[in-house]
Amino acid sequence: MLAVRNLEVVYNDVILVLRGVSLDVADGQIVALLGANGAGKTTLLRAITGLLDIHDGEITKGSVTLDGEPIHQHGPTKIVNLGIKQVLEGRRIFSELTVDENLRVGAHTNPRNARQNIDRIYDLFPSLRGRERATAGYLSGGEQQMLAMGRAMMSEPRYLLLDEPSLGLAPLLVQQIRDLIVEINKQGTTVLLVEQNATMALSIAEHGYVLETGKVVMDSPAEELLADSDIREFYLGLG
Ligand code: ATP
Repeated sequence: MLAVRNLEVVYNDVILVLRGVSLDVADGQIVALLGANGAGKTTLLRAITGLLDIHDGEITKGSVTLDGEPIHQHGPTKIVNLGIKQVLEGRRIFSELTVDENLRVGAHTNPRNARQNIDRIYDLFPSLRGRERATAGYLSGGEQQMLAMGRAMMSEPRYLLLDEPSLGLAPLLVQQIRDLIVEINKQGTTVLLVEQNATMALSIAEHGYVLETGKVVMDSPAEELLADSDIREFYLGLG
């Protein structure tokens, strides 16, 4: 179990962005993290994966634990090695490299099963199969997102943290990404899904959290959030 407790995060020693956030991600689940722009969702992912430092951010209170052991003092490589992998917002693939090369880069922390994992990823993402030698920068937005997710899966993560995977994608592709997340989860990876597309996220998540200016304002089973009138109005646009 991944657990965040009373977490406070500050950028540049002054700007308090997370103000006592607690969140649980139990093994096997898909958990949705919702909230408006600037609510602190990406910051929470960075705090879990050890990426705050490079953004001049710092945890000033609280903890992140994995199976009860604190991990918030660890750097990003150690955290990946513990099985927690983040796919950054904006599909940071290596655009000059081929699809295959991108996947091989993803194997650097887990080189032993590389060939087998690459096969598994092409099975999961059939639209990448046959494009092995294509330059990644020429793939469509949806394919780039799949490649970014596939690259993350090369480290065989126990937890996959996705930052807005559907951003900017057409509805059909959003559907494909949604199905992929479900499949990845079925195959045994626990998912923490940050999404602006609350409908998509809540349709596959068991549990959801809503962040507002650095605080958790809702923490409920996904079906309760889907039925909540405030959520329907503010996040689903359903009035
Ligand atoms: P978005 O959907 O826009 O990514 P978010 O909910 O992920 O929003 P964050 O990106 O975590 O929100 O940002 C939370 C707040 O922290 C914002 O006010 C943002 O301006 C601020 N912030 C983010 N990164 C930094 C940084 N490196 N230095 C200073 N402030 C930052």
